[in-house]
Amino acid sequence: MKNSEGKKGNILDVRDLVIHYELEESTVRAVEGMSFTLGYGETLAFVGETGAGKTTTALGLMRLVPSPPGRMVGGEIFFEGRDIMKASGEELRAIRGEKISFISQDPMTSLNPVMSVGSQIAEMVVLHSGLSMRESRARAEEMLSLVGIRKERMGDYPHQFSGGMRQRVLIAIALACSPALLIADEPTSALDVTIQAQVLNLMKGLKERFDTSMIMITHDLGIAAETCDRVAIIYAGRIVEMADTESLFTEALHPYAIGLFNSIPRIDDDRDLLDALPGLMPDPARLPQGCPFHPRCAHASQECENSAPGLEDVGNGHLLACWLRGKRNSEVGSVAQ
Ligand code: SF4
Repeated sequence: MKNSEGKKGNILDVRDLVIHYELEESTVRAVEGMSFTLGYGETLAFVGETGAGKTTTALGLMRLVPSPPGRMVGGEIFFEGRDIMKASGEELRAIRGEKISFISQDPMTSLNPVMSVGSQIAEMVVLHSGLSMRESRARAEEMLSLVGIRKERMGDYPHQFSGGMRQRVLIAIALACSPALLIADEPTSALDVTIQAQVLNLMKGLKERFDTSMIMITHDLGIAAETCDRVAIIYAGRIVEMADTESLFTEALHPYAIGLFNSIPRIDDDRDLLDALPGLMPDPARLPQGCPFHPRCAHASQECENSAPGLEDVGNGHLLACWLRGKRNSEVGSVAQ
């Protein structure tokens, strides 16, 4: 049965999530009040620079933030109505792998180098499905062929595969138990561009086949556009703008999101130089007061330096955290210009 068949509403509801890393001399505020929902069967992109808090948020959803130094400071995470923050160790182990799967960006560190790929897929199925080893191996063969690898290669080891093939094996492991939610953390960043396209197409096809909900973590707006229904732009541990993919790509409103779009080369663009965003993302151990983007923002006012804007709906579910939201395009411009 497909995962979301007959199911309506949200598979995931995250409210005001705060995650810190307590270091000896400082507190790294990695996630600062993240709130979002994910519908059944929906794909949401987390887009932002390295260090924005995307991966920490994803690990937090599975309560896998390494502790210490990580600490889930506050917030609520409801997965299929269950409160993940209050789940026992046993409940969490059952959810991970069976209900929520994770694909990392580096297949080599995720795969066991001394175990054949077939055994690694079958082991996942045995652990989470209650099938016998014989049935699990049959499932492993089926999954390998679904990701385009011949079943004759069941007994091969990870080092006998190319980077793209290893990522396919990880996808097979992640989807072997038909999880309701797949979290993919930069799944193609270590691959060549041509292989990237193959792996993304494969993920898209399998996601539709299994009707899995998905969070795609990426720094690449092109990947978000290709694979996602909605996009959340993340900056300094917060969502600063979130909208359906078409709205965001035709009318980005947050100055940071506009900066990201303006820094992408376009074939029809005759500028000699791209508009690079000035400055760097703040050190999460020393976040500025007020809007965290204000030191880099050409529109910053005293209000921006004093207090951080919340994420509010500016129409049709397009969410924006910026004090300029009342003035919108006339003040800030938009990518459509
Ligand atoms: Fe810029 Fe102010 Fe908006 Fe922050 S709140 S993005 S500083 S205009």
